[in-house]
Amino acid sequence: MVLADLATGEKAVIVRVHGHGSFRKRLIEMGFIKGKEIRVVLNAPLRDPIEYEILGYRIGLRREEARQIEVVTEQEALEALRSDEHLQALPGDLEDAQRLSRALAHLAEERNRNIRVALVGNPNCGKTSLFNIAASAHEHVGNYSGVTVDAKEGHVRYKDYDITLVDLPGTYSLSAYSPEELYVRKNLLETMPDVVINVVDASNIERNLYLTTQLIDMNLRLVMALNMYDELRHKGDELDIKQLGYLLGMTVCPTVGRTGEGIPELLDTVIAIYEQADPKLARHIHINHGKELERSIKHVQPLIAQNEELKAHYSTRYLTIKYLEGDREVEEQLSGMPNIQDIAFARADEAVNIWEMMECSLESAIVDAKYAFIQGALAETYKQFHADRPRHTITDKIDALVTNQWLAFPIFLLLLWFIFWATFTIGQYPMDWIDAGVNWFGGKVAGWMPAGWFRDLLVDGIIAGCGSVLVFLPNILILYFFISILEDTGYMSRAAFIVDKLMHRIGLHGKSFIPMVMGFGCNVPAIMATRAIENRKSRLITIAIIPFMSCAGRLPIFLLFAGAFFPHNAATALMGIYLLGVLLAILSAMVLGKFIKDDELPFVMELPPYRMPTAKAIGRHTWEMGKQYLQKMATTILLFSIAIWFLGYFPRHEGATAAYQQEHSYIGMVGKTVEPALEPLGFNWMMDVGLLTGIGAKELVISSLGVMYAQEGELTEVDDGDTALQAALKASIPVAAAVAYMVFVLLYFPCIATFVAIKNETGKWRWAILLCLYTFLVAWICAFAAFRLGLLLWP
Ligand code: GDP
Ligand code: MG
Repeated sequence: MVLADLATGEKAVIVRVHGHGSFRKRLIEMGFIKGKEIRVVLNAPLRDPIEYEILGYRIGLRREEARQIEVVTEQEALEALRSDEHLQALPGDLEDAQRLSRALAHLAEERNRNIRVALVGNPNCGKTSLFNIAASAHEHVGNYSGVTVDAKEGHVRYKDYDITLVDLPGTYSLSAYSPEELYVRKNLLETMPDVVINVVDASNIERNLYLTTQLIDMNLRLVMALNMYDELRHKGDELDIKQLGYLLGMTVCPTVGRTGEGIPELLDTVIAIYEQADPKLARHIHINHGKELERSIKHVQPLIAQNEELKAHYSTRYLTIKYLEGDREVEEQLSGMPNIQDIAFARADEAVNIWEMMECSLESAIVDAKYAFIQGALAETYKQFHADRPRHTITDKIDALVTNQWLAFPIFLLLLWFIFWATFTIGQYPMDWIDAGVNWFGGKVAGWMPAGWFRDLLVDGIIAGCGSVLVFLPNILILYFFISILEDTGYMSRAAFIVDKLMHRIGLHGKSFIPMVMGFGCNVPAIMATRAIENRKSRLITIAIIPFMSCAGRLPIFLLFAGAFFPHNAATALMGIYLLGVLLAILSAMVLGKFIKDDELPFVMELPPYRMPTAKAIGRHTWEMGKQYLQKMATTILLFSIAIWFLGYFPRHEGATAAYQQEHSYIGMVGKTVEPALEPLGFNWMMDVGLLTGIGAKELVISSLGVMYAQEGELTEVDDGDTALQAALKASIPVAAAVAYMVFVLLYFPCIATFVAIKNETGKWRWAILLCLYTFLVAWICAFAAFRLGLLLWP
């Protein structure tokens, strides 16, 4: 009996909740737990939702939802009391309420011990063999050619459970193309087995896993029977079963269908999953279909999810993926929905988008994405003794080269080096143009306007502030142009694989590497790029260490100081600074790893086939990053530029020199206030003011140093190649202090935009503030050490 069939006033006990994972989870959270008593408050024929009382409070439940809940009614309990000998032995009168409720509980418990299990797998993977041994039935075993589409049922009595096994016809996929596929799908969705055993042929694992990915989409309770395990052993292949299970979110039980080896463990697992003994045995994962397809899914899924009646029966993600694939059945199902037009338009949009981005149909993009997932999962867990399949696709050939054990790293490093070289060399030209343009514009505006605080605000605060954001845009665009190429061709996934082992040593993940590299360009988009990392711990640590990756904004400061203090070894000094950042990032990752709780959710690094990226895709991905940079940075940097301008401009000392003004402004006062704290590092108050302005954006450090050192007469043009500022700095501070300053600039609080990005991506101010304190602490300690060491080296 199902809950929906109960009449008003009737009482029942819940036996189980059917349905896909997220539906079940929601109902269980509402209190629909097996063994709980429930009463119908109001169930009128045309009324929806039906009103129930459970655990002492009232809940409305849609009729559709109530159909998914299996119950035992009082009526059934009464009948059982009359007929069942065991129950007749219960003390008390027949009508006694206590006796009745005991009978109810007993019946519910008994029914609860009936588990329906379906066997799903490719043809000839050994389903019927497993079925026959487990259920001790005898069905015809052999090559099933799919003439009759039919399921066989058998029963197993195992450890107090009555397990009903259903042997479904073999299928390679769950599309609506063949009668078998349709049949299996209908069976899974309509009869809703409690647990699904996905039988996988271990000697042909790659192809078999394709069906697995579709079952995962359906969000069923899955366990994998890795059958033909004897053949895998025989061939000498190695498979990390535990890891594969982690990655797929299901338990993998090796079995041999011929001998029955592994079947008891398989049944134990089925029971444990059914009883939800350990959430780790089965967790629902989302197969990552890649950036573009995930975007398509995100577009269509909410539209489908608006139809509540679908949600009780299907995982909407599954429906969305199937609908995007152009599945006829799902199309038909959705055709009755009130918002089918919106859904269809959204799909048409996405079809065009995928065509433009990847030059293929939605359907083949989805198939590719599933195989990318399988490739990634197997690359991490499976080692074939004899690679029996001749490898001659283009992807295989390229892979043979770029993942070659000797060449992989050199190729990777060469590519990185080239990208940085190109970013900074090519980027220098537009940077200079923008710089000149902004200066020219500022000058013009200054010329048009009467002198006064408003003109200064406009020119020195707003225009200069905007300029400092704009000037890095070319660098960022170029960097992302190359990164998009590497990502869209499929190379980045391999790179993540190559560094994965190394990254694991510091508690990170291969996917952390790309954001870290991006951090050299600008920390803000790098932090946004950590979204690709599914594991929370890896993601938090990656976010935390990105600020140590010296961004392009810090580069001019290092260039200035290295050029002034180490004119002959500037490149070495620069390299040293960058390496110090990387070193501290690694150390921090190891330290932080000890403090952050791991959610232990491993994930697959997808390995998509190589493909020629389309210009449109590269263009869009590059521009998206540029846009995010401009949006997120423009607002905060601009605000801070104005704030810092304000602090430096007031209180006014009319007629005084710029340096005098700076010294006696608010910011000068703050600089002098913090001076004692930074004095042990060898900094003077002017350098402190530079650091304070650098909190807004690192680019501001130089300009404020420039203002402060602009004491009349001293800051004239010098002709030995140094800029005036460099000469002034050299004259006023020791080498050790300059080194300490570079170290401090490298490590302390990255900038306000990064701060905001950290808050946005982690969702918590707490994280951003903690990180801010942490970076200050590290910066102080390292700069202090650098200063002391510097005093010894350059007395
Ligand atoms: P089904 O199509 O999935 O029902 O597969 P069957 O149960 O009909 O098995 C197909 C063939 O594989 C039969 O010849 C079985 O004897 C054989 N087979 C089943 N399980 C195993 C196994 O674990 N190891 C080996 N070596 N052969 C198996
Ligand atoms: Mg069979």
